[in-house]
Amino acid sequence: MAAVVQKYGGTSVGDIEKIKNVAKRVAKRKEKGDDVVVVVSAMGKTTDILIDMAKQISKDPDRRELDMLMSTGEQVSIALLSIALKELGYDSVSLTGFQAGIITKGYHTKARISDIEIENVKKHLSDGKIVVVAGFQGINEEGNITTLGRGGSDTTAVALAAKLGCTCEIYTDVDGIYSVDPRLFPTARKLDYISYEEMLEMASLGAGVMETRSIEIGQKYGVPIYVALSSEEWPGTYIKEFDASMESNVITGLSVSDDDMMVTVNRIPYKVGNVSMIFEKMASKDVNIDMISQTAPSHGYVNISFTAPENERYVIEEILEEIKKELPEIEIDMETNITKLSVVGIGMRSQSGVAAKMFKIFAENGIAFKQVTTSEIRISYTIDTRDKEKAIVAIAREFNL
Ligand code: ADP
Ligand code: ASP
Ligand code: MG
Repeated sequence: MAAVVQKYGGTSVGDIEKIKNVAKRVAKRKEKGDDVVVVVSAMGKTTDILIDMAKQISKDPDRRELDMLMSTGEQVSIALLSIALKELGYDSVSLTGFQAGIITKGYHTKARISDIEIENVKKHLSDGKIVVVAGFQGINEEGNITTLGRGGSDTTAVALAAKLGCTCEIYTDVDGIYSVDPRLFPTARKLDYISYEEMLEMASLGAGVMETRSIEIGQKYGVPIYVALSSEEWPGTYIKEFDASMESNVITGLSVSDDDMMVTVNRIPYKVGNVSMIFEKMASKDVNIDMISQTAPSHGYVNISFTAPENERYVIEEILEEIKKELPEIEIDMETNITKLSVVGIGMRSQSGVAAKMFKIFAENGIAFKQVTTSEIRISYTIDTRDKEKAIVAIAREFNL
């Protein structure tokens, strides 16, 4: 019998009526004869509310305890969905990450799935049950509850689909993947298909519709992913391996992120090992650094700038304080009002001129950018958040997004 993993995000299970509606959709799928695993997120803004409560007690709450706290959100929604399914007359079982065999490694609040002991899920499926799994959580080697990073229910769903060798359907509050976040640019185009490669770049650069790691897993294990609306039957977007039919535009999408800050460290003595020491210390605390730029050495000093998630601010400050003890002459500056804009497209591999067009757009619109980095299929810029809207409109127009 074919299996399917369906995932419903926070807004889609935001209240009791919505949970009942999800139960009906899941039941309909079960009626088709498929084995159904459902992954759900915490209801509505629950995770934000839980984090906010912890932050009212501590500006940097202990991460093990945060995981313990955050994981409760998903536990509420799995139980309610399973109750709703039983009420409709379907046999179902709710499972926490631990009960579903989701084993993780790495840091609390951003753990990674290392394996899934799938036997329990399979046993319940073979007993004819609908299996409702808590997204976003797992258990580490020490037996502690961990979470997978914000948006991590997508990762739970795709990883389960990889393990079961089936398709993963992501149901959410938007009817597919758009060239630009429709909340930021309402006339963006909906894409029928997008390659794993492009979706991976878009997600990691701010397109929060899919969590980055979920796409990495999807690509690695060839999981077909379908993103669609949870409230109605309406065609969505397929995320799959690139094929020639997708090669219509040079730029497929524009990702926008306000979640980063730019850290500048000036007056670093130009000596072998100093710059690497800074990044090693960041890596040792698992701080995710993105755009890095360095000035040419002048009078024995270099300056570096990099972007990092704003929610890592306290960890970064601690690390920089430590570094300042070793290199007292450095000067540190942190800018939080920055926006990262990235154009993404496989077409860039074969067509040049995108960077030139982007520079022209910025010049014509009087937008000063602070940093620029490129890879094979993307170009990213950091700009002042003040210029964000102007830049999005101009870029979308130029590239027909
Ligand atoms: P869920 O709670 O279902 O996981 P999310 O809020 O994580 O939902 O993701 C859905 C949201 O992602 C949409 O409401 C949309 O505003 C946003 N989004 C960001 N970039 C894109 C994009 N390129 N295409 C579609 N939606 C996007
Ligand atoms: N509830 C978690 C979050 O808000 C996980 C998820 O929604 O995917 O980040
Ligand atoms: Mg999400």
